[in-house]
Amino acid sequence: MRRAYKFRVRPTARQHVALGQCLEAQRTLYNAALQERRDAYEVAVRRSPNYFSTQRPKAPVNYGLQSAQLSEIRELVPDQATWSFSSQQATLRELNKAFESFFRRVKSGETPGYPRFKPAHRFDSVLWPKDGDGAKWIPEASRVYLQGIGHVKVTQHRQVEGRVKTIQAKRVGRHWYLILSCDDVAQKPLEHTGAIIGIDVGVANFLTTSDGDFVDNPRYSRVGAGRLTNAQQVLARKQRGSKNRRLARETVANRYRKVANQRRDFHYKVARRLVKEYDVLVVEDLKVANMTRRAKAKPDPENPGQFLPNGASAKTGLNRSINDAGWAQFRSILEAKVEEAGRTVMSVDPRNTSLTCHECSHVDAGNRVSQAEFRCKRCGHEAHADMNAARNILGAGLALLVAQAA
Ligand SMILES: [Zn+2]
Repeated sequence: MRRAYKFRVRPTARQHVALGQCLEAQRTLYNAALQERRDAYEVAVRRSPNYFSTQRPKAPVNYGLQSAQLSEIRELVPDQATWSFSSQQATLRELNKAFESFFRRVKSGETPGYPRFKPAHRFDSVLWPKDGDGAKWIPEASRVYLQGIGHVKVTQHRQVEGRVKTIQAKRVGRHWYLILSCDDVAQKPLEHTGAIIGIDVGVANFLTTSDGDFVDNPRYSRVGAGRLTNAQQVLARKQRGSKNRRLARETVANRYRKVANQRRDFHYKVARRLVKEYDVLVVEDLKVANMTRRAKAKPDPENPGQFLPNGASAKTGLNRSINDAGWAQFRSILEAKVEEAGRTVMSVDPRNTSLTCHECSHVDAGNRVSQAEFRCKRCGHEAHADMNAARNILGAGLALLVAQAA
């Protein structure tokens, strides 16, 4: 099992400066490598203007080419030579990932933005891809050795288990954190309860279970979002490059972080409780990405050049709620907890779970009277709509289990 640990680090004043310099050198490298790719790309497009449509779009400069130049760069630029070679390769790989996803999206017909240069406030971490290579975790001393920075003290609030694979230093506001990604972390199986549950994630409630538990969306999210919007408006009024603007940006970042932390804590709490009580958790296979995708323009066949309403504003509202609830994050936390506890999570087809009557299986859009009310058109069964859906999800999960056992 894989697991990541995040600890606050307590650098000395000198180490704090060195960490900043290390980050800055990596950012310089990232931006320089991006510049090289941009130049090569422009030359390629100038040579063949149909670069995109005629050829399979491919980076004219790739990771291998850039990584091969590292030794020379380190000889010529003393600022770069201080830092670990492997961490510099990791930075180049990060850029390569940005390009791969750019080209993937171009290929699938989207129009993504070309990878952008990273300003200082957008570049916040350095990765050492292997423990012992330019960075070393020293658990007995609660310290981490980082090449060019030294032995930095770490506030280790829990035992690190398994084998440390990668080491990452991350700047958050004025603080630094250490992220250790570990392999071979032992499971801690919980005692079997014999219980199985269906879980419906919703907009009105964060989730509803087939046992009739309703978990509300946390209210702080709205309050925090309001405070965040205020801070963003203040930021927008500040003059570019001014000290006030920098301070306002810190405020925005702090408030954003606060909302994100509260949401994550909430997700952990809910996931822990579910995993403790149930052996098998059945959830909808919600392609959040699909739901959040922008609505396509719908041409009006009667009036060429005109467009019909496409529900875009409704989707934007839904997007907001979906993002607020952060289902994707919750799912990954739930899955991690499930794995750790030796439980099972099952995904079932989400189609019609909210429109099917749990009593008589009648499917009808009219069954759902409102956001909360379900009344079957055929048998008259009445229930809370989310609970009816959660029971259908549980039913689909049970059917899958039976099929697997057969
Ligand atoms: Zn019915």
